[in-house]
Amino acid sequence: MLGAGFGGLELSTKLSEELGDAVDITLIDRAEGFVFGFSKLDVMFGRTEPDAVVHRYADLVHPGVTFVPATITAIDPALRRVETDAGTYDGDVMVVALGADLDPAATPGLVEAGTEFYTVAGAFAAREVLADFTGGAVVVAVTSTPFKCPPAPSETALLVHDLLVSRGLRDASTIDLVMPLGRPIPPSPEASEALLAAFAERDIRWHPDTIVTGLDAERRVALIADGSEMPYDLFLGVPRHHVPEAVAASGLCVDGWVPVDPATLETSFPDVYAVGDVTDIGTPKAGVYAERQAAVVADRIVARHRAEQESATYDGVGVCYLEVGHDEVAKVEVTFLPGQPPQGHFQAPSTELMADKAQFARSRIQRWFGRDWSNHG
Ligand SMILES: Cc1cc2nc3c(=O)[nH]c(=O)nc-3n(C[C@H](O)[C@H](O)[C@H](O)COP(=O)(O)OP(=O)(O)OC[C@H]3O[C@@H](n4cnc5c(N)ncnc54)[C@H](O)[C@@H]3O)c2cc1C
Repeated sequence: MLGAGFGGLELSTKLSEELGDAVDITLIDRAEGFVFGFSKLDVMFGRTEPDAVVHRYADLVHPGVTFVPATITAIDPALRRVETDAGTYDGDVMVVALGADLDPAATPGLVEAGTEFYTVAGAFAAREVLADFTGGAVVVAVTSTPFKCPPAPSETALLVHDLLVSRGLRDASTIDLVMPLGRPIPPSPEASEALLAAFAERDIRWHPDTIVTGLDAERRVALIADGSEMPYDLFLGVPRHHVPEAVAASGLCVDGWVPVDPATLETSFPDVYAVGDVTDIGTPKAGVYAERQAAVVADRIVARHRAEQESATYDGVGVCYLEVGHDEVAKVEVTFLPGQPPQGHFQAPSTELMADKAQFARSRIQRWFGRDWSNHG
């Protein structure tokens, strides 16, 4: 099991629940622990402390699961063999859930003159940058596609607004949001309308269908894809995404991502599956989709182990919580199935949904790490 993010944690937990010691699961990850994507925003906006959001892999205890803290350096999908800096591992079944790596250096000027908030380190550092900000032009922007959690830049702009209001800096500031999408959440017209209304109400300027290609560090301007420029005092950027190097070199990728059968999550190599952000399955790159894909793979492995029909298939369903500021959360459920337009169902923002989101987070940590946890510390 390569990667212990949303996909890897769900898969190893489910296999352990179903089969316990009857299987021998090796779960490999280079990170110290798991961090929810939304915890990055919580830390950045001072709602919790960095230490409180890292769920240490050393605490993982599931029958049948051995966690290996190591960096994967090479993957041979034909042999189902993985090379790591802690040795070589072979499997009867291999599941690649290594997510998307982030490359801030790929956007000229971003490292020198901007703040990326998508890596764990970047989001934690952004907390200090925001705390020291004394007002001015804020630009929140995406620098390439595809990118994880399409609602996150919109959430960030709304939370920046709240932060500046609370610090008495909003009147001295502007907020611009630059996104490659035509609407904030394309598959859900209602969610998009709600976000556009929230932007208008808060005077957040929305720039659809474009990206920032670089920053001019000297002049403090963001360079927009259409050739225009946007001055900034604070630039919060989403960096370029790509598959981890070992995946890129493995022969599993086509056009930069791992193609899978959208129903079964199988790659083109026998007994090698891939789930989550590392794939090009056609769902958004979000944890809830990775988790549900992993559950399907777990069901198929369990069936195989029991010599039953491997009948579980992926239904493309995902439920996302959207932070809209003012301590409210909206909920959007979108189903992506091949050859069909995505189907969205939207629940308007409320404080009740804030509690719903907290319960979602709590239930995952309970299930994966066996302990009680609250996302707001
Ligand atoms: C700001 C922000 C907010 C977000 N909010 C949400 C949200 O509200 N809801 C939601 O569903 N999603 C959200 N996401 C997206 C979500 O975090 C990802 O889509 C999700 O984590 C993908 O799951 P995954 O299992 O595919 O990959 P990941 O969770 O990224 O896991 C991949 C794992 O592989 C490991 N790895 C990678 N390369 C190597 C290597 N060479 N060797 C060893 N280990 C390696 C990594 O350490 C990592 O633990 C958000 C993301 C961001 C950035």
